[in-house]
Amino acid sequence: MRKTKIICTLGPASETEAVIREMVAAGTNLFRLNMSHAAHDWVRAIVPRIRGVAEEMGVIVGILLDTQGPAIRTGDLPEKFDLKPGDAIELTVRGAAPRERFSTSVNYDGLVDDLSVGDRVLVDNGLIHLEVLEKDVDRIHARVLTAGLLGSRRHINLPGVRVKLPALTEKDRADIALGTSLGVDMVALSFCREPQDVEMLRQLLRAHGSRARIVAKIEDQLAMRNLRGIVEKADIIMVARGDLGIECAMEDLPIIQRKIVKHCLHVGRPVIVATQLLESMIVSPVPTRAEVTDVANAAYEQADAVMLSGETAVGKYPVECVKVLDRVTRRIERSGGAGYAGEAVLRTDRQRTVQSAVVLANSLEHACIAVFTRRGLMADVVSARRPHRAPIFTFANSAEVCRRIVLNWGTFPILMPFDSDPGVTIRNAEKLLRERGLVAPGDNLVIVSDLLAGEELYDSIQVRPIN
Ligand code: PEP
Repeated sequence: MRKTKIICTLGPASETEAVIREMVAAGTNLFRLNMSHAAHDWVRAIVPRIRGVAEEMGVIVGILLDTQGPAIRTGDLPEKFDLKPGDAIELTVRGAAPRERFSTSVNYDGLVDDLSVGDRVLVDNGLIHLEVLEKDVDRIHARVLTAGLLGSRRHINLPGVRVKLPALTEKDRADIALGTSLGVDMVALSFCREPQDVEMLRQLLRAHGSRARIVAKIEDQLAMRNLRGIVEKADIIMVARGDLGIECAMEDLPIIQRKIVKHCLHVGRPVIVATQLLESMIVSPVPTRAEVTDVANAAYEQADAVMLSGETAVGKYPVECVKVLDRVTRRIERSGGAGYAGEAVLRTDRQRTVQSAVVLANSLEHACIAVFTRRGLMADVVSARRPHRAPIFTFANSAEVCRRIVLNWGTFPILMPFDSDPGVTIRNAEKLLRERGLVAPGDNLVIVSDLLAGEELYDSIQVRPIN
């Protein structure tokens, strides 16, 4: 059983029921809908399609709605600009009329105030570099430093600049309203800059009656400065390497990834490593050696999940990509992990009880862990302790909770009704595990559950040999 979870972005290359089915069969745990590209009608069609496939296949698959966030974009162009070093280009705001041959509008009026002469502007995922030469009230005059083809609605990065766009734009709010009405399991907050951004999203989700988990995307220097506060407030963290690699020095990226993953494992927060894991597989049926090593590194660091973007959204080999991730991560998991969770400071009694259960499971031959969780909170605590070999069978009595914990490392959510008597619930769980062939005689089941003592519920540990 694979412990590192797989997230795949859906798009034109993977949107059909047949491909979704193949991707689930290959091991996809969660599908991402990227609202920077997805239209509302498409989302309305794809959510029930994913749910239908998962139900038909009898597997638990989650859905993550990824917002566009406060992204700065260039405007629509009648045709692409073929930019060469030294060319003059202007970026206009507030509907200003073009004056140069190469001129594009920008969706952020604050651009003129935020930039100074000499600053760099990075366009289209950092491919095109511009240098600011002059500012006007409604435009920036710049010089092209690196050549490139500039198309419509390209992303602009301003490394180190605190962009004064709201954390949730009008578009994000409309997208979240749609996603919550369709019951998505997680919502990603793009360009999360500070803990208050997470709070704002939490309130919005509550207002929509949604308990979707919040994935805070760490994408720039400001988020790195506020990392601890963001990790505290969010449910899940994403190392969004696409933008991080532009907003920060490229050579810092591996250090940043390690720092985020380590911190998340120290405090027990699920973490996703995202972007360009198998970039070459957009056009090639096999990954590069470097990509295999990058995936291996994320699995070795024991990140909860790895995420594919363009590879599965627009690439030629979406199903093969999932198979590669499955194969590489399984292999690395067998060879051991970095063990950052071992350095965690345990703060609560629950964490300490769970730690004892995990130590027990680590010391037993053929151990499996069974967890019972009502809201999914216990599921996070057990997964965070990263048991060495034992799979974590996590029983929940709601499909929604099962989907919310599906990307937790090493966790296999199982939907099962709970009895009012915890003893009966445990017996039912044992029976179910035996029937599904998930445990065999000789296995030791380490059970982490609530135990009723009088009126109070206490966390407890039991070991039951399977006969
Ligand atoms: C990233 O930048 O790595 C990322 C996941 O965000 P997006 O693809 O939405 O820009």
